[in-house]
Amino acid sequence: MKDMFSAVVGNRKLCERLGNDIIASKLPHAIILEGPHGTGKHTIAKASAAALVCEEKENAQKPLPCLSCLACRKVMENKSPDVITVGCEDKATIGVDAVRFIKEDISIIPNDSDYKVYIIEDADKMTAQAQNALLLTLEEPPAYAHFFLLCENSGSLLETIRSRAPILRTELLSKDEIDEYISSHDRRAAQMKLSDPSGYGELLMASGYGIGQALEYLEPKSYATVKQTRALATDFVTTVIRSRGASEALPVISKFSSKRDVLAEQLSAVSEAVRDLIVMKKSDTAKLCFFADRDFAIELSDKASTIALFELMEAVEEASDEIGRNANVKLCLMKLAAKTGILS
Ligand SMILES: [Zn+2]
Repeated sequence: MKDMFSAVVGNRKLCERLGNDIIASKLPHAIILEGPHGTGKHTIAKASAAALVCEEKENAQKPLPCLSCLACRKVMENKSPDVITVGCEDKATIGVDAVRFIKEDISIIPNDSDYKVYIIEDADKMTAQAQNALLLTLEEPPAYAHFFLLCENSGSLLETIRSRAPILRTELLSKDEIDEYISSHDRRAAQMKLSDPSGYGELLMASGYGIGQALEYLEPKSYATVKQTRALATDFVTTVIRSRGASEALPVISKFSSKRDVLAEQLSAVSEAVRDLIVMKKSDTAKLCFFADRDFAIELSDKASTIALFELMEAVEEASDEIGRNANVKLCLMKLAAKTGILS
């Protein structure tokens, strides 16, 4: 069988389906690719575009896309005039202007090949007006046109759009899959894995099992805040569990931000950490979403009772809710401190 979409990590079933559809000339004209940030949606759309135009498409001995023919290389190197990516750029939404551009462009036949591929990034950020405008094009696209609508949440798309395009979901990878990919594709990752294995493990966890996010975090600037937030969450949870009721735990509360949006992120990290500890109560081999150091998490989890962890979780979620409802930030933190036994 042909090797499908080797440029894409994970998501094997999805890639095989797309590859087979392309070989059979049955690829739908519009596809919604839905999945968390950094799970390869863009790479999959690009690989599909390359597969459509690949000169070795019929050759069973070659992978699809072959990635070495001229047509494949042009697509993968973003040099093909027939693959058009539209996104929100710096704006919060994608408006009718972008759709108007597509409508004009789509009437021009392909330059190099038999296909034109439109990749709409953050399609869930299209305004209702833009979606309605696009709908007309999706209803009767030219035979050569294919659309990939990428989004994290297809629920934000109009029902009329969703009914025109199958929704294919991209999946988060395992920590090992991400490790294998980034340490073999990115020199900074390979270096960090050697020189700072625990920091590297933290970064993989922070990536939330998405390659795109992991690669982004290799930029120290983009990772600095996340690193700080994770350290604070670890510090808070450790303090609450190890010195329940002790006044020396108080300073950790003062480390939380007084800015509402930052505090919300911090509390969400704490909540993830506590969830890990609760999961560990059931099984030492459970999949963790916060702690990179499993032994540390086991040790911490063993120190607290299940009830205490659930109480902690409840206190943190209550604080998060209140922050979301515009409650006074300081009061919220004091309440959290009281509930977690830091203030007693
Ligand atoms: Zn090719």
